[in-house]
Amino acid sequence: MIKAVYIHIPFCKNICSYCSFCKIYYHEKKVEQYLKSLKKEIETYYRQEKISTIYIGGGTPSDLNLEELNILLDIIKLLNKEKNYEFTFECNFDITKEKLQLLKEKGVNRLSFGIETIHSKYLNLLNRISNKKEIYSKISLCRQLGFHNINGDLMYAFKEETIPELKEDLNFLLSLNLEHISTYSLMIEEHTKLYLNHEQNCDEKRDSNMYYTIHHILKKNHYEHYEISNFSKKGYRSKHNMTYWNNLEYYGFGLGAAGYIDQVRYSNTKSIQHYFNGKYRYEEEKIDRRNQICYELILKLRTSDGVDQKKFLEKYHTSIEENYFIDDLIKEKSLIKKENKIYIPYDKWYVMNHILERFVR
Ligand code: SF4
Repeated sequence: MIKAVYIHIPFCKNICSYCSFCKIYYHEKKVEQYLKSLKKEIETYYRQEKISTIYIGGGTPSDLNLEELNILLDIIKLLNKEKNYEFTFECNFDITKEKLQLLKEKGVNRLSFGIETIHSKYLNLLNRISNKKEIYSKISLCRQLGFHNINGDLMYAFKEETIPELKEDLNFLLSLNLEHISTYSLMIEEHTKLYLNHEQNCDEKRDSNMYYTIHHILKKNHYEHYEISNFSKKGYRSKHNMTYWNNLEYYGFGLGAAGYIDQVRYSNTKSIQHYFNGKYRYEEEKIDRRNQICYELILKLRTSDGVDQKKFLEKYHTSIEENYFIDDLIKEKSLIKKENKIYIPYDKWYVMNHILERFVR
């Protein structure tokens, strides 16, 4: 039963230098056409299930004007919602009070802001504009309007970044008292402005140092490190993202969105013209049983919960050991087997991808 919906709004008024996401410059006429096509896509594929998490991401969905936001939020009415649904909306700090009020009125109950860093030299490098004062006042406005579940993104591992600079960013985030923090190490991806400018990634040793600095500081401040890059206060894990990490099915609507339905993983076209013409799907892959098991392990092992062996057996009628030889991983303490659970210990999270590669076949 599908319970999660991701909706992609690809429009941005400002393009960040590191961005490799599916995005285009904001353009009123295009937004109008896009929303029409999005409505058609949802009407075509949505099968009336009760939805427990909705995530509107982008792009910068908050760049839509009030009228466009109203149309978008009316489209969301097509979805039947469970009583305690989570509804996340990605925002920029220039979002207005009127837009926030509208989101609140229309049922959005979780906001996600890209804070990234407070250091102007790194903000300039990223081609992002924001400042501490604006962030403080916008977060406090959100609180006044009744938003009590807010995520902030933190970016780190700029080539010249020092640990004291990272600590300043972390202290600032802590001062905002956010319910959830997502962290990203800056990766220079092909076709981005940073790549074309020959910017370099930070070296691995420093990157790992920063990763564990974040882990220790946030943990000390009562955030649970529940997924390789995500931290939350008690009770505030992202329900939507847990859908992905629990290997459950979900709809992905919008330009370039990905979804997983009836054991088929699909991705939508990244061509806006195709999208306007209703040619939504670009690629589909049927996930056979062997790959389902592989996904189940590599997604769940990203989390502090790890894999519950009993549930795994109930779902697949086979044990992990029958499919993978994990004794070596256990011997080298890359995997811990405790009670009914198999998980990767925190001290190995930085090299998690190398461990997970051993499950891909
Ligand atoms: S706001 Fe997000 S999607 Fe838009 S350019 Fe920046 S990183 Fe990319």
